Amino acid sequence: MKEYAILLDNTFCTGCNSCAYRCIQEFRYHDQASKGLFRTFVSINDGGLYHRRCMHCLDPQCVRNCPVKALTKSDYGPVLYDAKVCIGCQTCVRVCPFHIPQFDEASKKIVKCSLCAQRLGDGKQPACVEICPTGALQFGEYGAMKTLALKRAKEKKLKLYGYDEGGGTHVFVLTKEDSAAAGYPNVQKKALKSGRASLDGGLGVPAMAVLAVTGMKKFSERRARIEAETKNEKP
Ligand code: SF4
Ligand code: SF4
Repeated sequence: MKEYAILLDNTFCTGCNSCAYRCIQEFRYHDQASKGLFRTFVSINDGGLYHRRCMHCLDPQCVRNCPVKALTKSDYGPVLYDAKVCIGCQTCVRVCPFHIPQFDEASKKIVKCSLCAQRLGDGKQPACVEICPTGALQFGEYGAMKTLALKRAKEKKLKLYGYDEGGGTHVFVLTKEDSAAAGYPNVQKKALKSGRASLDGGLGVPAMAVLAVTGMKKFSERRARIEAETKNEKP
C-alpha cells in the first residue's frame, strides 16, 4: 500500500494561516481554536515561519506509548487519533518529541492533526493543502515528496526538517533559515524507521482504491502545476 506525505516549502508560505482557518472549518473546532488549541497553525517568528502540526512520524512515540491505543499509525502514513478510546492521560503530550498534541481541559481530549483521513478516503487532498493559495503545501506519495524535498533543498540551498528527525516523518519542511530559529523543535536525528510501525487504524481497501484512482489524478495535476510555477518563481 502506498504511503503519503506532505511537503511544506516555507519559502512559499506567507503566513496567511488560510490552512489553519480551513482546518477549523473542516473539523468545526472553533471553540477549541478560540482557546489556542489548533490542529495546525503558522506562527511568524523573528527567525522565520513555524508551522505547528503533527509530523506523522515514521516511528511515532505517541503511538508507542498510548496505553489504550487511541493513537494508531496507519499503513498509508498518517497517525490517527480516536477520541472515543482516549482516556485523557496525556502520555502523548509528554512523549511527543515535536511537542504537538494539545490537551483540551474542557473535553479531556487531545487536539492533533490526522491528515484529513476522511478526505483522503474520498479521494481528496487534506483541506490545508487544497486551500493553500501559494502552493507552499503539497501532498502526494511519500517517495515522490521525499525526492522532491531533497531536490529542492539542494537546488535552492534550503534546510530540510522532518527527513530524519526522530527517525523520519511524513512531513517534509523546507526553510531558508535554520529550522530551530524558525521555531521548529530541536529533535534528535536518527536512521529512518519503517513507515509501517503499526498497521492499526488504516483505511479499508475500498476507500484506498478510491484514493488511488480518483485522488492521485488530482494530486498529480496539482504537483505538475506547482512544479511549473516553481520553475518560474521569482528569485
Ligand atoms: S509529531 Fe508527535 S503527535 Fe505527531 S506522530 Fe509524531 S509523536 Fe505523534
Ligand atoms: S491522552 Fe489519550 S491519546 Fe494521549 S496517550 Fe493518553 S489515552 Fe492515548
